Amino acid sequence: MTKSSKTARSAAEKGDGIRIFSATWVLPIVTGPIHKGAVAVEGDKIKAIGPASEITAAYPGAEVTDFHHTIILPGFINCHSHLEYAVFRGSNDNKNFGPWMLNFLDDKAKLGRGDYAASSLLGASECVTSGITTVGESMYSGTSLSAINQAGLRARAYQEVFGLDDNKIKETMDLLLDSLEELEEQKGDLAEIGIFPHATYTVSANLYRVLADLARERGMKLATHLAESKAESVYIRSGSGILALDFREKVGWDYLSREPFGVTPVKYLQQWNVFGPDFMAVHCVHVSPADIEALAKRDVAIAHCPKSNAKLGCGIAPLPALLNAGIRVGFGTDSPASSNIMDMFGEMRTAIFLHRGVARDVSVLGARECVQMATLGGARAMGMEDRIGSLEPGKQADIIAVDMEYSHFTPIHDPYSALVYGANQEDVFFTMVAGRPLYTRKVLLTLDDEQIASDAREVKEKLWR
Ligand SMILES: [Zn+2]
Repeated sequence: MTKSSKTARSAAEKGDGIRIFSATWVLPIVTGPIHKGAVAVEGDKIKAIGPASEITAAYPGAEVTDFHHTIILPGFINCHSHLEYAVFRGSNDNKNFGPWMLNFLDDKAKLGRGDYAASSLLGASECVTSGITTVGESMYSGTSLSAINQAGLRARAYQEVFGLDDNKIKETMDLLLDSLEELEEQKGDLAEIGIFPHATYTVSANLYRVLADLARERGMKLATHLAESKAESVYIRSGSGILALDFREKVGWDYLSREPFGVTPVKYLQQWNVFGPDFMAVHCVHVSPADIEALAKRDVAIAHCPKSNAKLGCGIAPLPALLNAGIRVGFGTDSPASSNIMDMFGEMRTAIFLHRGVARDVSVLGARECVQMATLGGARAMGMEDRIGSLEPGKQADIIAVDMEYSHFTPIHDPYSALVYGANQEDVFFTMVAGRPLYTRKVLLTLDDEQIASDAREVKEKLWR
């Protein structure tokens, strides 16, 4: 062995190049909480995790950061977001899903690509500062991928597709192939591209089939909004209601014939051979026991967005039944246009209160299960559990720390309870993705938050006109 390789080996053993982060609580997720724990990070990966005394003794040469009275856990995985709609928050707060959608279309038409770029940066900065490290982003304008890259987030960025007129499928697919090529070129190391047929009332059965074939051919993942509202169920079952009439008229599809399909939205999609383990259904509020069985049978993953669904008056997805059926479920904040903020603590808290309240039984959902769903559960739903979702050696160093130096955390009895019942997005003070700190001690390192906020306020003025 040469002198230099010997020196290199002994340096690695001592811990040179290794960073250790310690805290009062560390939550690996796959095992129980570690009191006075630490995580060692080497490059973009987790090297070791355990009691702080053992980890610091194992790597005496490592750079140690003690976060003291905090909880360290894996970054949150937001399975369904629309970062580019961040500026729409508060625009349509008191409308049911159908009228909300019509107003939203009017708002969307007021903005141009530059506005969406500004809005995407606002959304990306909110993710970083609220401890979201991975997003399942549904893109309309396509500007969020660049914001995701700039922020340093991990993502699956899905290109949204719309089309009810089967005569235009070729045109739609040509446009999609062009944008997929552009997105593939533009994506950084931490993003992958997916395809997002928008919903059953905006995408024809034939287009769904063609998109599913393309996704299978290219090994890409698919997602769609499914069984979100009563309006969608009425549209599919009886070919009527606001989505069949007002909505079609607004988007110029009123010349197309429509059928009463006579089934639920899940049954409707099931027949087009689009379901499978690489398919994520977003929402699944209006699902029957037979729908749940069909989704479970094809191993479809679900993004549960409890706040958005409740706020738009859509309802409450039957989460306990979905979990009992063995379906992979993660949380999604959905769009700030519907749920206003992208706060995974808020999603966890809303979920636990809603489901316990509806079931009149606390055993249907626990705080630890909520934190698992927001991390490893989300990773499984996204098909990324080999890389992220828990703190384990060899996984990516996507790590956050939540500051517990506040009265609403004092004293801590159980860290899972503290996170679910007590924490808010402002309590996050450290966010790291792939070993790269993006936010530390409440300072954004990759984005200019003042500029972003000022640009977003300017864009908002256009929505007031
Ligand atoms: Zn959505």
